[in-house]
Amino acid sequence: MNYMHRIDSNMPPLQHSSLAALGEFGLISRITSAVSPGEGVITGIGDDAAVTSLSPGMQLLVSTDMLVEDVHFDLGWHDPSRLGRKSLAVNISDIAAMGGIPRWVLLSLALPSDLPLDFIDRFMRGFLGMAAEHRVALIGGDTCSSRSGLSISVTVMGEQAPELILRRSGALPDDDIWVTGTLGDAALGLKVVQNGGTGDDYPVSRLLDPSPRVSAALALAEAGVVTAMIDVSDGILADFGHIAEQSHVGGCIYRDDLPLSAGFRSHTADLSEIPYQLALSGGEDYELCFTAHRSNRKKIVDCMKKSGIAVTRVGIVINSPGVAVLCPDGTRYEVNSDGFNHFT
Ligand SMILES: [Mg+2]
Repeated sequence: MNYMHRIDSNMPPLQHSSLAALGEFGLISRITSAVSPGEGVITGIGDDAAVTSLSPGMQLLVSTDMLVEDVHFDLGWHDPSRLGRKSLAVNISDIAAMGGIPRWVLLSLALPSDLPLDFIDRFMRGFLGMAAEHRVALIGGDTCSSRSGLSISVTVMGEQAPELILRRSGALPDDDIWVTGTLGDAALGLKVVQNGGTGDDYPVSRLLDPSPRVSAALALAEAGVVTAMIDVSDGILADFGHIAEQSHVGGCIYRDDLPLSAGFRSHTADLSEIPYQLALSGGEDYELCFTAHRSNRKKIVDCMKKSGIAVTRVGIVINSPGVAVLCPDGTRYEVNSDGFNHFT
C-alpha cells in the first residue's frame, strides 16, 4: 500500500491558508481524512474516547513525550516533515526499549495561529508516514492555540506478552553491556547544524530523522537473552546509568569499543582527539543499550545479524554502584557532562 499517496490523495486541497480561517474542527477533520483505520482499533478518532483491543494475552505499554519548539527542536533546521516523523519516532523508541510492539498513538498539538497550514500538512505527512512504517494507528489527540511556539505531545501505546517485556531493572553483575548501531552521530549532527551545516549530512540526518530500533528490540525480546534494556536518548553514559541505578549495579564502559560511524569518523578526522564525549554523552541517537549474560554472545550477534542492525559489546556490569569509562590502558576517562540535562 502506498500510504504516502493515500495521505496526499485524502487530504483535500487547501482552501484556507491560515489556521485561524480553518478553525480547530476544520483542522481535526483535515487530519482525520488522512488517517486509515488501524489494527485493533474498535473506535478511532471522532468519539469522546478511542476504543482499542489488545491481542489475547498481551499487556498494554504506554509512553508519552513532549517536543517543544526551541527546547527540543529549532524550526530553522527542522523541516516539518522530518519533525513529524521524529516526534513519533522518539515515542516508538520508548515502546521498543521495553521490547513492545507499537500499536496506537495520540497526538496533541499547541499551534501558533500564524503557522501556515502547509506546515501542518507536511508535518502530518511525516508523522503518518512514520506511523505507517511501524503499523501504528493514530486514534485521537487534541489541538489548541499557542502564544509561544509549537508544542507537540505524543502518547504511544504498545503491547507485549508479559514474559517478553524488558525493563531497566534486570541487569546482573558480570553481564555484558551492548549497544546497537553507532553512537554520537546525532550529537555531532547538532554541532554541524549549529555551524550552518545542511540536513543532508549523515550526522544531521541521524539528528533530524532517527530510526527507532523496533525490529531489533523485538528480536532481542523474543530471543529471551536480554536482562535489561533502555533506548539511548540522553547518551549511553546517562542511559546505562538508569539501568545501573534501577538494577542496583554499576558498570565499566570501554571507551575505545564505542561504535563510531564512518560519517562520525570522517567529520571528526581533523580534530586532534576523537570526541568520545559526543558518543558517551550526546543525546538523541535512539539506539538500544542492553545487558545480557556472556553465554548469550553468539545468540545476540546472530539475532542482530538477522535484523540487519549492528551490535557492539561496549562494557561490563559490575557489583559496585557508579559507571566508569575506561581507556585501553585501564585508566579512567573523565567525561565532561552526563548526557543532556534540560535544567542546566
Ligand atoms: Mg527512553
